[in-house]
Amino acid sequence: MKTYRIAMIPGDGIGKEVIPAGQKVLETLARSESSFQFEFENFDWGGDYFRRHGSMMPANGLDALCGKDAILFGSAGDPEIPDHITLWGLRLKICQGLDQYANVRPTRILPGIDGPLKRCRPEDLNWVIVRENTEGEYSGVGGRMHQGHPIEVATDLSLMTRAGVERILRFAFRLAQSRPRKLLTVITKSNAQRHAMVMWDEIAAQVAKEFPDVTWDKELVDAATARMVNRPASLDTIVATNLHADILSDLAAALAGSLGIAPTANINPERIYPSMFEPIHGSAFDIMGKGLANPVGTFWSVVLLLDHLGETGAAQRVMKAIEHVTANPLLHTRDLGGNATTVQVTEAVCSEIAATAKSPLTTA
Ligand code: NAD
Ligand code: MN
Repeated sequence: MKTYRIAMIPGDGIGKEVIPAGQKVLETLARSESSFQFEFENFDWGGDYFRRHGSMMPANGLDALCGKDAILFGSAGDPEIPDHITLWGLRLKICQGLDQYANVRPTRILPGIDGPLKRCRPEDLNWVIVRENTEGEYSGVGGRMHQGHPIEVATDLSLMTRAGVERILRFAFRLAQSRPRKLLTVITKSNAQRHAMVMWDEIAAQVAKEFPDVTWDKELVDAATARMVNRPASLDTIVATNLHADILSDLAAALAGSLGIAPTANINPERIYPSMFEPIHGSAFDIMGKGLANPVGTFWSVVLLLDHLGETGAAQRVMKAIEHVTANPLLHTRDLGGNATTVQVTEAVCSEIAATAKSPLTTA
């Protein structure tokens, strides 16, 4: 029997509610699968750790992650600590440190979910957004001087490397090629950003030649927002820079029903380092500690984690259980207009997984 070593990093806010729920789902699944099991290690990094130690995670924290097969992450963000400290001290440190350069964000309208678009049928919205995850606008290069004085100046430099752009575009073309429509939209802003984004466009045209069977087009990021709303079916796989894709994927999540549903995978495609899976939402200060968080984004992230491990059958079982539960409005959390709690949704997904087990569940 295979043993997968999984790092659990709940982080802050509702991360502490949805990640244990994700672990329950994985444990339930493992009890009905005879070919693999999980070994979990929990890392208490985040805002509370910061209050005790002055940093979001230990300096050698990445070493502990390197021995894992995958990471399940909640959220970084604490009401008492500035957002740029929590984000850079934990999530970006892991994504950049473990070279998880491809951030993959599937979006579709799950059964039973009523999206905000009037004329959009569920089959019209089936996207995967690929976000560059290690450079660009999030390179962290810049600085401030004359702080607090009238002549204060501040810069954030967006850095794009040919190697970095090539590898993310190649990843996106390959992903588009693996999907039935073989359709890729490359998001750009080369009209205004006339250096790096022009290079981005040129590299897209070069990489496209390696994928003659993929149909691709280019769209300016502002126009892309309108296209997502007005012509969702014209899109399939979408690739964009770190910041552009960050924004587009929150829009995508909202169009698919709720930020609470959307999953993401931070992938190191070469598998030199473990990949990290997380719901795209943040700490949700307004609902944290109340048991109202929608755990579906975490459960769908668990599906992506299982897929990455090559456990595609198990991934499908969990996805079916999620869809079975979203189809029932009585099991919708408040973000979807319902009254169900995190615990109720978690129990429903777990009992559906147990009910579809091939062999009877062994006791925990
Ligand atoms: P957010 O995603 O935390 O919340 C936005 C809105 O969506 C809130 O109204 C929230 O209640 C709702 N929401 C989000 N997830 C939900 C869920 N699972 N169920 C039900 N409702 C849900 O975004 P924000 O308010 O911009 O950020 C709050 C904090 O989280 C900030 O510190 C921010 O930096 C951080 N953040 C972290 C990550 C990450 O670690 N990946 C991502 C986004 C935001
Ligand atoms: Mn975001």
